[in-house]
Amino acid sequence: MRFFEPDVADPGLAGELEAAYRRVAASGRLILGPELAAFESEFAAYCGAAHAVGVGNGLDALTLALRAAGVGAGDEVIAPSHTFVATWLAIAATGARPVPVEPDPATCTLTAEAVAAAVTPRTAAVIPVSLYGHPVDIDPLLAVCKRHGLFVLEDAAQSHGAAYEGRRTGSLAHATAFSFYPTKNLGALGDAGAVTTSDGGLAERLRKLRNYGSIRKYEHEHAGVNSRLDELQAAFLRAKLPRLDAANDRRRAHAAAYAETLGGAAGLTLPVEASWARHVYHLYVVRSPERDALQARLEAAGVQTLIHYPTPCHLQPAFADLGFRSGQFPLAERLAREVLSLPMWPGMPAEGPAKVAELLGTKA
Ligand SMILES: *Cc1c(COP(=O)(O)O)cnc(C)c1O
Repeated sequence: MRFFEPDVADPGLAGELEAAYRRVAASGRLILGPELAAFESEFAAYCGAAHAVGVGNGLDALTLALRAAGVGAGDEVIAPSHTFVATWLAIAATGARPVPVEPDPATCTLTAEAVAAAVTPRTAAVIPVSLYGHPVDIDPLLAVCKRHGLFVLEDAAQSHGAAYEGRRTGSLAHATAFSFYPTKNLGALGDAGAVTTSDGGLAERLRKLRNYGSIRKYEHEHAGVNSRLDELQAAFLRAKLPRLDAANDRRRAHAAAYAETLGGAAGLTLPVEASWARHVYHLYVVRSPERDALQARLEAAGVQTLIHYPTPCHLQPAFADLGFRSGQFPLAERLAREVLSLPMWPGMPAEGPAKVAELLGTKA
């Protein structure tokens, strides 16, 4: 069994994707045209935000949102010690310094208490990450950040359609960065990303930053970049957005089947869903001190698994200049040794989880 398979083979979707291609090709509008405008308003409405601004990928969504909020050299930005490296790369790209905070061990997301303890006079922003598809306990976090005047940018690259007390990611923080990398819960047929926000000024600055710092041709207010979500990807995303909730429901059904069949496994820690959360299981991540042996056993039986992520950000060579040492963020280091992502995609066969559980030698 593979770890993930794309959904483009779905015959209903394939027909719509082909129609989207023909529509864009016939229009002759390929960049910053009507498909992007339509996707931006459809995605903003889906999230419950006033604005969505399409960009080239998730890393640019994070970086440009920080820049649009005025974050830069001399600032500190609080981020989880355990996340995909892009969260940290975005901070570094603005010239600011990543300040790692250990997440809640059960949900792997930042807590208000831990963030409050890390705030200094230089702190400008916080990036809570709804990792693996589990949303962040956002209200207490927003309260702490309001007290200190901090910008809150959610990294929701893994949590399209997740919800906090019924409100979707994309509407919770001051701004939210999404990636539409093909394997994400909402994936394009290439690279794409977006920022959602209900702050009109921030949205306006983002529209400039993604397009050479310009709204009117040849007038450049900011030293912007070229990071646009192109018409073809926007048209593909429009075909896929109406299918997102059903796809997330299928992920949740697979997660329930995993929980049921893996429930008795000794030494295995399963993902949890907080009472206020709708988890969308971008990844189904279990933990075990025997991780490497379990992975080898599954691989020998033809079951593909992955590790998200094997090296914590603070120990990556890319961040050597920050001067962190091994042992400084023990939870992140333990997670890097113990996490194992089991196969998970909406179209996974329903019997997949039971098969994996049987191989792991659990009650099944
Ligand atoms: C995928 C991902 C990103 C980056 O998105 P790209 O589109 O690949 O640049 C950022 N943060 C997290 C948590 C991600 O999973």
